[in-house]
Amino acid sequence: MYSRVLLKLSGEVLSGEGERGFASERTRFLIEELRPVVEKGIQLAIVIGAGNIIRGRELSEMRSSRADELGILGTIMNSLYLKESLCMNGFEAIAISSIAGIPSLLEHRYDTIEDALNTGKIVVFGGGTYLPFFTTDTAAAVRAVEIGADVLIKGTKVDGVYDKDPKTNEDARRIERTTFSEAIKSRFEIMDVEAFSICQRYCLPVRVIDFFSKGSLFDAIIGGKTGTVVLPD
Ligand code: UDP
Repeated sequence: MYSRVLLKLSGEVLSGEGERGFASERTRFLIEELRPVVEKGIQLAIVIGAGNIIRGRELSEMRSSRADELGILGTIMNSLYLKESLCMNGFEAIAISSIAGIPSLLEHRYDTIEDALNTGKIVVFGGGTYLPFFTTDTAAAVRAVEIGADVLIKGTKVDGVYDKDPKTNEDARRIERTTFSEAIKSRFEIMDVEAFSICQRYCLPVRVIDFFSKGSLFDAIIGGKTGTVVLPD
């Protein structure tokens, strides 16, 4: 069982796949997925994306750096939304970002983060890496290494990594375990190369799960076979 987990969630967990904004039933689902994890005493930090608001690459007419700034602000909105939803539902949570001077956000300080995790608070990171040209996958890898997480769990809409595209190949097989070298050799699409290379360099296991499948997060954390796990070589 993992004891400190960094969970990467796409902004779409707050809206529903392909949707925009915030949908209360999606937030309820998310909260109920997190509840058993926190009740078990697992220390949890979350990096949230902004796919439900804006991704920089969607604004192709704009300079990438400026478009990405909007994406970064989207992740901050989501971190505040998530933190507040968690607090309204009986969790203790803080939102961290060094970008915006907003009263509900705490500065990115290692002592603050460590104290929160050690006292059972969920830490929500907004603002990505604080740099344009990256995504929240890379932010998740950086934050996971920073907090010394045992694993980076990437919550997606597919139940792991397949040897072929399961949409077009009936015989596609889900890979249960693989290594960083094997994943690179076989070109498995797991996360951005930048994120992947940080995980590989710091020997941080990555687990890809279908976050929309009830109970999969808890199963992955307590050592079940959900999803695909990528292990150091
Ligand atoms: N972004 C960025 N730097 C970062 C993280 C995010 O510029 O370190 C911007 C980028 O435009 C990205 C958007 O914020 O498209 C939202 O992040 P992401 O695409 O990872 O969201 P997700 O798809 O996970 O919801």
